[in-house]
Amino acid sequence: MTIAKKIEDVLKTKAKFIFITGGVVSSLGKGLASASLASILQSRGFKVRLRKLDPYLNVDPGTMSPYQHGEVFVTDDGTEADLDLGHYERFSGVPAKRADSVTTGIIYQRVIDKERRGDYLGATIQVVPHVTNEIKDFILSDISDEDFVLCEIGGTVGDIEGQPYLEAIRQLAYELGRDRIMFLHVTLLPYIPAAGELKTKPTQHSVKQLQEYGIQPDMLLCRSQMPIPENEKRKIAQFCNVREENVIAALDVSSIYQVPISYSYEGMDAAVCKYFGLTDAKPADLSKWEHIVDVLKNPEGTVTIGVVGKYTQLLEAYKSLNEALVHGGIANKYKVKIKWIDSEKLEGEEAEAELADVSAILVPGGFGQRGTEGKIKAIKYAREHKVPFLGICFGMQMAVIETLRDVAGIKNAGTTEFMTDCEPVVGLMTEWDKDGAKQIRHKNGDLGGTMRLGAYECCLTPGSKVAAVYGSDKISERHRHRYEVNCKYEPVLNKSGMLISGRSPVGNLPEIVEIPDHPWFIGVQFHPELKSKPFAPHPLFVSFVHAAIENSRLI
Ligand code: GLN
Repeated sequence: MTIAKKIEDVLKTKAKFIFITGGVVSSLGKGLASASLASILQSRGFKVRLRKLDPYLNVDPGTMSPYQHGEVFVTDDGTEADLDLGHYERFSGVPAKRADSVTTGIIYQRVIDKERRGDYLGATIQVVPHVTNEIKDFILSDISDEDFVLCEIGGTVGDIEGQPYLEAIRQLAYELGRDRIMFLHVTLLPYIPAAGELKTKPTQHSVKQLQEYGIQPDMLLCRSQMPIPENEKRKIAQFCNVREENVIAALDVSSIYQVPISYSYEGMDAAVCKYFGLTDAKPADLSKWEHIVDVLKNPEGTVTIGVVGKYTQLLEAYKSLNEALVHGGIANKYKVKIKWIDSEKLEGEEAEAELADVSAILVPGGFGQRGTEGKIKAIKYAREHKVPFLGICFGMQMAVIETLRDVAGIKNAGTTEFMTDCEPVVGLMTEWDKDGAKQIRHKNGDLGGTMRLGAYECCLTPGSKVAAVYGSDKISERHRHRYEVNCKYEPVLNKSGMLISGRSPVGNLPEIVEIPDHPWFIGVQFHPELKSKPFAPHPLFVSFVHAAIENSRLI
């Protein structure tokens, strides 16, 4: 379909587009800002959709190290996406889809595929219009009854990589009409203690740079440590050609879940509605956020959970996990304090001392050998000391290996992911079923996008601990793994006190293990943290945190 036809179709819908760009510095929290604005608009009764456009050349972040990019978020439809999609889902509750995330890698791949097919009929392929058209095509796709489509452009204005995106949204403003589009620019007002002032100059420069690309921001969201004095707001408005009421302060707050409340208090949603002429929109109802903030501020107690992982220096790598534990705390009216434990440190003598002060232990997902033996030590400690344990993906695989090594006596039990001379308890999956079709993988195949990804159903054993936790015997959870516990070890696992209590409907892939003779010991092959929301905490995290609280009373 041509872009002109797509524009015509979108103009038949009621969709309004808010494009979010960032200026001055990176890491301003644009993702959180976009998610928060979406949630306030939702509370006014609007239907929202959130999208991320990432200017890097990778097709997706799936092959990037967590040190580069933080967590890889996985959607139900199996897209490996930017962690901002996690914020979007946690704040809006709207499940993200493949159509909500794009990178320059994907855009160029599509353009080059078309060129090879001969679709461009002999034209010279250029950034404008071919790349920009592909970006516009992404933005305009899959729109139905949304009131607002919020599109966040990754990076900072001025980045070379971001220019085609700015050009594409500039063109869209012209083609869809200014009344359908709002440009929201997120900036920083640094505080200079010697002058005792917030400085507006970097914001002015950033807006000038946007204007050079032909984009006039309609709203400025200014990150600031303190309230912005009225005269400074006036100054920003004047210098940047923005209405004063559209200069919004984004003040630092103690919890990310306070952000929607804070923005609404600063008048952001009212200004957005006024901008689009939605004068009869109902007021924002932020009671669910108020409840969450209230519990976070006034917990009945604090419980410490040890997370034993490899990327403990970079908490972005465990973003959803961190949030899911907070959510489990909210449901129990407790503050969860996470003790991040570097698994390599547990390989020495001091492992017991490191773990002695935590009320529960979690081993999250992971890849590769480094720190593995430390994780196995932590699992052994949890099993033997009856400390509540949750193993996620790699953590579950290691829990099975630990039981087989230590209880069943299979000393060389291991995974073929990185061990060559081992009993292959965890091995490469080469075949599985997806929506009735066989998925086939080979040992030396591509690494990108080829794992068992996204939502798969799992059947729970009636009467098991997990069945009680979920209150159901059929669930759907998101996956991201290439290796799998071999079910031929089930009889010996059972004899060693570990049960497989969840498995795939076809093909019998073990999905969950548990130890019935333990207060709370569960390993899951999927990533429950990806589906947890502050207002809908995931049952596994609710139950795990509850077990941690019970255990803390015994310590
Ligand atoms: N590396 C393991 C696998 O590929 C576990 C992956 C994970 O923890 N997400 O199966």
